Amino acid sequence: MKRDTHLVMLLLLVIGCSLASLTIWKILGSRDRALDEVNVHGLNLTQALATYSEGIVRQSSLLLLGLVERLETEGSGPAQIERLKTLINRQRPLMPQLSGITIYDNKGHWLMSSNRPIPIGANSSDRAYFIHHRDDPSREPFIGPPIRSRSNQEWVITISRRFNDDRGEFAGVVSVTLGVENFLRLFGQLDIGQEGAIGLSYTDGTLLVRYPFREQDMGRNFSNSPIYAKYLIDKSVGTASFTSSLDGVERLYAFRKSETLPLITTVALGKREALAAWRFEALLSIGVVTTLLGLTGVIGWFLILDIRRRTQVEGELRDTQQQLLGTNRQLELLAMKDALTGLANRRCFDQTLAMEARRSKRDATSLALLMIDLDYFKLFNDAEGHIAGDACLQQVAKVLETCVRRPSDLVARYGGEEMAVIMPDTDSDGAAVVAQMILKRLAQEPIAHRTSPFGRVSVSIGIAAATGSQLDTVQRLIAAADQALYQAKGAGRNQLAKSVASES
Ligand code: GH3
Ligand code: MG
Ligand code: MG
Repeated sequence: MKRDTHLVMLLLLVIGCSLASLTIWKILGSRDRALDEVNVHGLNLTQALATYSEGIVRQSSLLLLGLVERLETEGSGPAQIERLKTLINRQRPLMPQLSGITIYDNKGHWLMSSNRPIPIGANSSDRAYFIHHRDDPSREPFIGPPIRSRSNQEWVITISRRFNDDRGEFAGVVSVTLGVENFLRLFGQLDIGQEGAIGLSYTDGTLLVRYPFREQDMGRNFSNSPIYAKYLIDKSVGTASFTSSLDGVERLYAFRKSETLPLITTVALGKREALAAWRFEALLSIGVVTTLLGLTGVIGWFLILDIRRRTQVEGELRDTQQQLLGTNRQLELLAMKDALTGLANRRCFDQTLAMEARRSKRDATSLALLMIDLDYFKLFNDAEGHIAGDACLQQVAKVLETCVRRPSDLVARYGGEEMAVIMPDTDSDGAAVVAQMILKRLAQEPIAHRTSPFGRVSVSIGIAAATGSQLDTVQRLIAAADQALYQAKGAGRNQLAKSVASES
């Protein structure tokens, strides 16, 4: 039973472990896939945004290149500036992102502004882009840090180029201002969730645009953040996951460094948000599996209880069976015994005689039978009463048992006050020795019988023995012993007589 319940427990354990590990494996696998999808999505977004930003910067650079070319060939006198203004105003509708174009002389004074009249005494010699071009002879465009426009207080990014005079000396700066608002409008159309962020920054870590817009981040340098300090050193495109030091939110970052411009585009998605669908699916799977495991456990438990109950019933049945067998054995023994004398009863006598007859015939041995009858027993009963008669029978039975020595011999109560002794492998003479001993013992231990001529209880014994075919029917042997008994009675009682047939 222990083995059965152990097997069931082992089966439940195996089912439980496999189901749990399969679920964990599936959940972890789908988490990896969800993260991969988010990263691919982020990288695609950075690609689209980088292309957009690069396009605007390149368009602005080309526009500036044309203006510089004209300023350098035609000069920057009032007439030329006026012509340029007309040209610029014609080009403006082609570039809606463009907020304005401004031309400065070599001292930083405004020569022209495309979108408003020049304020009196306006000077931008303190702006980073002006200082850069004044001090750096390079003709390359310069992308400046975001600044607040002096004209309308909007946040703008400047792209500027330097122009020289006839002698190749610094003659001034032409700058294009791009409204941060325009970028934010586009970025805002992309779904990046509640915790997502899009950033456009300069390669030195200066933030140019961030969506969602945060005033305090404008122009801030993020060169210490992990993306710049760790990832962008080795590669120009990639993904990373870390917790923001600003708001403590863990995000999945996709970043891309422009191949041609010093710009970096970053798309960050909140990890918690990005994994929301996966989390829901995982919780659902865990719920279903836990329910299944619970059900399996309950069914298993009932199975174990059932096995235990059945085993207990089987044990009880076995015990009852054993008890029944014991009782049967006792009943069998009782059925073979005579209740008064304790000797074998008539049934046992019949069975034993038939069996011994067969054996004697097979072994070609002699089988002897004594038929013993108490003398004048009717008188004993009449004189002493039946109870004393019964006690007398018990005493005689004991004496008979002491006279029979071989284990194969059987003393039985044949009926009433008649007893018999079956003696296998014994001939008539051998049986006579036992009969003599019975007579002798009864004489030595006398039981008083006042109405008997002998004064004590005595018996008459008929002896018969048979071999071979004489044993085909045991009735012949019994009849022979009976006949001998009558002879003994007839000859005066208290003696033995041998059957004529068995005398040899
Ligand atoms: P005998 O055999 O010497 O010819 O005389 P008997 O008096 O013994 O005659 P018989 O064998 O015919 O009588 C048998 C008597 O034994 C009859 C009955 O009263 C008595 N008897 C038989 N069975 C029992 C018994 O179980 N208990 C008692 N007390 N008496 C029994
Ligand atoms: Mg009799
Ligand atoms: Mg008698």
